[in-house]
Amino acid sequence: MRLIFLGPPGSGKGTQAKIIASKSSAKHISTGDILREAVAAGTDLGMKAKKFMDAGELVPDEVLLGLVQDVLSDKQTAEAFILDGFPRTIPQAEGLEEIFSKLGLKLDWAVLLDVPDQAIVDRLTARIFCADCKADYNLKTKPPKVEGVCDVCGSTRLIQRDDDKKEVIENRLKVYHETTEPIVEFYDKNSVLKRIPGDRGFDEITEDILKAVS
Ligand code: AMP
Repeated sequence: MRLIFLGPPGSGKGTQAKIIASKSSAKHISTGDILREAVAAGTDLGMKAKKFMDAGELVPDEVLLGLVQDVLSDKQTAEAFILDGFPRTIPQAEGLEEIFSKLGLKLDWAVLLDVPDQAIVDRLTARIFCADCKADYNLKTKPPKVEGVCDVCGSTRLIQRDDDKKEVIENRLKVYHETTEPIVEFYDKNSVLKRIPGDRGFDEITEDILKAVS
């Protein structure tokens, strides 16, 4: 299974991608997570990415294409994966086609989680994650069982991502509409797009995605 997950920031695509990956043998590849880890570790990649991420801007295409090619060059990963947060621009989508053809891979489906902007703003301002084990929560739709305590590791360091601040969210939505939405059409033309309404109950969405890609 080789999937791409598309959708605005806060559409729930990251959480759904993790669940679908855990229910299959697919590897979850989140370019946002890889970049955040690189920033935290202070690597070359992190230094290149940090200023764009802090401003809610996209990191340059060539940086992302190099990163994704490296990840997919691993044979086991290339067998089954879910790309989450990539591609986000037409040059990235075209570059990904080239990487697939170089590595002899074929995309099965591009899954789009469709969510209106207002629902996104409401959700993102409620999003937190565990600073220790990285488990993610949403104070409205998926709160921790005990307020302020991570379900997974018990840490009390539940915090908001810098790029989930209101002004950064507004910029990320603007960037999404201008730059990322055209690639929905790109995959629609290639007849691999599965459109899933994403403003519903979490489990219902997971079921619909599983049906759509099986
Ligand atoms: P995410 O967690 O997927 O929302 O990504 C967080 C941030 O990482 C984005 O706002 C971008 O700055 C950067 N980023 C992640 N994936 C990409 C991508 N495919 N292209 C450019 N920038 C990206």
